[in-house]
Amino acid sequence: MALEGKRAIITGSNSGIGLGVAEGLACAGADIVLNSFTDRDEDHELASWLGNKHGVKARYIKADMSRGNDCRALIEAAGGCDILVNNAGIQHVAPIETFPADKWDQILAINLSSAFHTTAAALPGMRERGWGRVVNIASAHGLTASPYKSAYIAAKHGVVGLSKTVALETAGQGITCNAICPGYVLTPLVEAQIPDQMKAHGMDRETVIREVMLLRQPSRQFATVEQIGGTVVYLCSGAADQVTGTTISIDGGWTAL
Ligand code: NAD
Repeated sequence: MALEGKRAIITGSNSGIGLGVAEGLACAGADIVLNSFTDRDEDHELASWLGNKHGVKARYIKADMSRGNDCRALIEAAGGCDILVNNAGIQHVAPIETFPADKWDQILAINLSSAFHTTAAALPGMRERGWGRVVNIASAHGLTASPYKSAYIAAKHGVVGLSKTVALETAGQGITCNAICPGYVLTPLVEAQIPDQMKAHGMDRETVIREVMLLRQPSRQFATVEQIGGTVVYLCSGAADQVTGTTISIDGGWTAL
């Protein structure tokens, strides 16, 4: 298989996009490390299930991506990696004047600084082996803004800038670094918001999705975790050897507006 023998670490991967990316990479033959800060039995069972399903090595390693030392320890505990997917992320919505300072710090730490720490820790091994892929899960909000999401948008724009810088520092060394910018993806996180939105707007599920949630996504369709996973697999393929320092939007046309 295409990625047989490659070792991938996906941060924040016990649900949603991270899990979809892990499954995409496992399906392509990569050994995988799942991560979150929870360390529940289910997290370890999920890794075993995924490994058995796709016939690859899979394990779960706990690390809190809000802590720089934990980020670096994750790479070390995994014994390095060939593919690093920086996916862990959280959101908070509030006007800037009342945006809690601790939320700002937490979002910057998990959504941006974690990628700095994991990348710094993973690159020496990639350089030694002459091959590596760093894929950062940014957002349409890494390219454009919306009100009330100051920390998230600052962090995601930062991730895009970090990706470009890492690409320049590794160019010509068999290593690429890119950012994927999804629009709305139907993950458990987004699914959980639908009932509240239905109630708030007095609309049925289909209408609230189309007219409220996907208002800025011209396709009026969610992106899927499988589509994000497939894009990561593409970025890990030989076809993408010269794709570095760029963004790939999966947003149904949002950033074309
Ligand atoms: P999710 O809540 O399902 O997944 C977030 C993951 O991050 C979980 O596995 C969680 O355990 C992990 N995580 C959170 N805090 C952590 C911490 N301190 N340490 C380690 N892991 C931690 O959400 P999702 O929608 O799958 O989002 C994944 C990424 O995709 C995020 O970076 C998010 O910003 C980005 N994204 C999501 C969407 C969307 O519409 N769902 C759109 C664009 C970008």
